[in-house]
Amino acid sequence: MAYTYDDQNIFAKILRGEIPNTTVLETDHTLAFRDIEPQAPVHVLVIPKGAYVSYDHFAAQASDAEIVDFTRAIAKICQMEDITLDDNDGFRMISNAGAHGVQEVPHLHVHILGGRRMGRMVQPAG
Ligand code: 5GP
Repeated sequence: MAYTYDDQNIFAKILRGEIPNTTVLETDHTLAFRDIEPQAPVHVLVIPKGAYVSYDHFAAQASDAEIVDFTRAIAKICQMEDITLDDNDGFRMISNAGAHGVQEVPHLHVHILGGRRMGRMVQPAG
């Protein structure tokens, strides 16, 4: 399966240091930073450093090292932000892909949202 990656997207520019970000965590293969328009008290975006458009692209084609690094980074962020189920109230994780997923930035990102009750998971299409 061929995925097309646009290296001019905003998160590619963040990874190249062309646009500033508020970093939460950086590891060998992963960067996590605060969303510029937070939808909850905790709203962190987690992205792989590699050029992947969507979660299915990453899951199919990333190396084992990248996948492990990304997954462990998410665990670490949940601990750092105090939103784990270990004595805390939990969180929601979302990854939008393509037109139906209403993806704005075409570089894989997982939203981690917490600090308040999130409400319904899927709203009527708008
Ligand atoms: P999507 O709709 O693609 O799942 O979400 C894209 C997210 O990226 C949105 O929540 C939006 O607020 C965030 N975003 C867009 N541009 C920037 C930026 O330049 N910096 C940061 N930190 N977040 C951004």
